[in-house]
Amino acid sequence: MSGKKIIFATGNEGKMREVRMILADMGMTLLSMKEAGVQADIVEDGKTFAENAVIKAKAVMELTGQIAMADDSGLVIDALNGEPGIYSARYMGEETSYDIKNQNLIDRLEGVPEEKRTARFVCAIACALPDGTVLTSEGTMEGIIGYESRGANGFGYDPIFYLPEYGVSSAQLTPEKKNELSHRGKALRKMREKLAACSL
Ligand code: IMP
Repeated sequence: MSGKKIIFATGNEGKMREVRMILADMGMTLLSMKEAGVQADIVEDGKTFAENAVIKAKAVMELTGQIAMADDSGLVIDALNGEPGIYSARYMGEETSYDIKNQNLIDRLEGVPEEKRTARFVCAIACALPDGTVLTSEGTMEGIIGYESRGANGFGYDPIFYLPEYGVSSAQLTPEKKNELSHRGKALRKMREKLAACSL
């Protein structure tokens, strides 16, 4: 596969950092949309993480003619009927800071006991190949929503997402440990296997 390029369809630098680490040994050049000079305003109107990932990957593959990979991910909180779910990035508005979004979610869970604060990060990955093939994979990371924000690593909702078996939030994990445990790490490693089985 060496020498091939993959464009990863995201404008999110936090995500891009994680994806680069996880796919570092794939022998392919990974480009962000910015690096590939691709500008696209893609309407994510799918009803599931997987549908949205496929929409993004296909759109970028069609624009560039190159292999395009996209993820759609988010936080699913059981006590809030799955919110913010596929609307995680748009929750309270794209421009609202995560300090405010995270505090809002903690406030909405006021009085909810620990055993009912279960949540998971979900990540769906899609890879669209120029021959029209679309590969998909999915990964999850289980945890609970805490009572306060902690940690400065990661991004987004990481400071309020706790991993009970480690006693820390996902913003307190080292980048290496987060990639080992995370929804995105799991989904990307599955995708790496699927791509390795394709003759690109
Ligand atoms: P997407 O870019 O449409 O996939 O939006 C994903 C959103 O879900 C991000 O902007 C974050 O708000 C949230 N999210 C996804 N993965 C993570 C993670 O690993 N940590 C924290 N927040 C995440």
